[in-house]
Amino acid sequence: MCGIFAYTGDKKAQPILLEGLQSLEYRGYDSAGIFMPGSPLVKTPGAVTELRKRVHFTSDAKSGIAHLRWATHGEPTEVNAHPHADCTGDVYVAHNGIIENFRELKAELEKRNHTFKSQTDTEILAHLIEEGVVAGKSFEDAVIDTLQQVRGTYGLLISYAKEPGTVITARMGSPVVLGLGDGENFIASDATPILRHTKEVVFLNDGDIAIITPTSHRVRTLTNSEIDRPAEHVDWDTEEASKGGYPHFMLKEIHEAPEVLENAIRGRLIAKEGRAKLGGIESVADTLADLDRLIITACGTAYYAGLLGEYLIEDLGGIPVEVELASEFRYRKPIIRKGTAVLAVTQSGETLDTLEAIREGKRRGALTLGVVNTVGSTIARETDAGVYNHAGPEIGVASTKAFVSQVAVLSLVALFLGRSRGLSEDEGRKIVQGLQELPELARKVLKLSETIRKIALKYKDARDFLFIGRRYSYPVALEGALKLKEISYVHAEGYGAGEMKHGPLAMIDTKFPTVAIVPQDSVYEKTLSNMIEIQARKGPLIAIATEGDERVKEVANDVIYIPKTIEQLSPVLSGIAVQLFAYHFAAEKGLNVDRPRNLAKSVTVE
Ligand code: GLU
Repeated sequence: MCGIFAYTGDKKAQPILLEGLQSLEYRGYDSAGIFMPGSPLVKTPGAVTELRKRVHFTSDAKSGIAHLRWATHGEPTEVNAHPHADCTGDVYVAHNGIIENFRELKAELEKRNHTFKSQTDTEILAHLIEEGVVAGKSFEDAVIDTLQQVRGTYGLLISYAKEPGTVITARMGSPVVLGLGDGENFIASDATPILRHTKEVVFLNDGDIAIITPTSHRVRTLTNSEIDRPAEHVDWDTEEASKGGYPHFMLKEIHEAPEVLENAIRGRLIAKEGRAKLGGIESVADTLADLDRLIITACGTAYYAGLLGEYLIEDLGGIPVEVELASEFRYRKPIIRKGTAVLAVTQSGETLDTLEAIREGKRRGALTLGVVNTVGSTIARETDAGVYNHAGPEIGVASTKAFVSQVAVLSLVALFLGRSRGLSEDEGRKIVQGLQELPELARKVLKLSETIRKIALKYKDARDFLFIGRRYSYPVALEGALKLKEISYVHAEGYGAGEMKHGPLAMIDTKFPTVAIVPQDSVYEKTLSNMIEIQARKGPLIAIATEGDERVKEVANDVIYIPKTIEQLSPVLSGIAVQLFAYHFAAEKGLNVDRPRNLAKSVTVE
């Protein structure tokens, strides 16, 4: 998810670590910290500029660990910044990811008299390692024992003051790369900060643990004391490295969908009972139980995720839902009575219109909720309760992985609300199972990237596109059109497929292609009929359909086959397909898809 960097060698570590951290900063972080054995621990909110200001010493240390935090547990404050220390002040841990079972472990550690300084999930790792070394275990064994107890994701850096030349790292879910130099070794979350020092890198796999000293590196797993991970020579420049080898951040972020889905559901499903466990809204569970109306408010892509939220929450939760553009809601006179809640959906948590909509809701006495990606952001702080996405920072201006995550989180909210209302255990279990299968199915959609590129290429000269869908595929049609507009500057419109005959059908001719989202769901036949109407007017058709659907081939000129899932979750898979379509269409034109003209990432103006 975020940024780690470590050094051990024959040079002074301080400038190398600060510079390394700086080159990871492109991803956008909220706090930073550095530890070098023999020097004081320094941490700060903000990023590397702030950190540099606070490092008031010149350390002679030849090793150290550094971290850029993108908060998931606890606000982005100085105490919550990494590295985190144990009680003895000898063990220091920097971590990217989420430790799922930290609450249980923390409670046990507290019983054994450990004191905690931060609200993070990470700090338990330092204390668990402390217990090992205090009991006489080696540094390495203490780390292994600790990792055997934790569940979750991590890219870890661990420094032990009593063995200053050694740094241990471990990977589970969050990327870790080793850089092998001459008399010096490096660890980072991607190759960017390493490349200026060496081009020999080792990409760790999930479950790997690596122990580096200035002149050695060893990779092992929890059970094997040594495994072979050959070094690779990389010729990437810094920019390529920061994009993980992808040509654009947008494509990289689309490919993060499976991981983002795993992060959204991690620790939040009780499979046996067909329920969702959402710590962030449990505090208002009583008010939610009496809820009789929900207003979802958002902008842009998040608004379309909100529309899906409406379908999901009405479907599973039986609560009337309205979705309002935040920029409209704040200037209308919305009617809010007792029992109404306003829920904001926002990636940055700073979108001004959404923030003002939430404030308006609050002024009118509504319970306010958030589905927010950025921990500690203004909307996260100002809402009464909410659920974090844990999707990691998004750099591409056009939102992709955040949308996928928002839909997944809204389905959790729907499940949460549904199970406390009429949704049966059996129905709940189907949703749980669907969510659990989703990351794997998303991987299958990503494998279609090249097929989708070829299809997009066939339509490269089109100046107009329609995107159509019904029911759960309707918001995806709207989102598909928006994605194409924002990054390719081509005119695109999203419509409910049933609306075609009420107007848009008039535009159709041989030069006006339609992307139809037509999974085999409860409205399949209806959408297919709408497609046949387009076919009759000689409009080219690209279908996003369910694997194995032969009928659709007779109607569409091109078909993108996505795997089958339950109807409520199909927008996640078709959503990834429309993202890939828009991406390839724009990338083939040589456009700057990460920074489309006239647009900005976090819209803090009206
Ligand atoms: N879960 C950790 C925290 O909130 C690490 C976040 C990160 O990946 O930066 O502090």
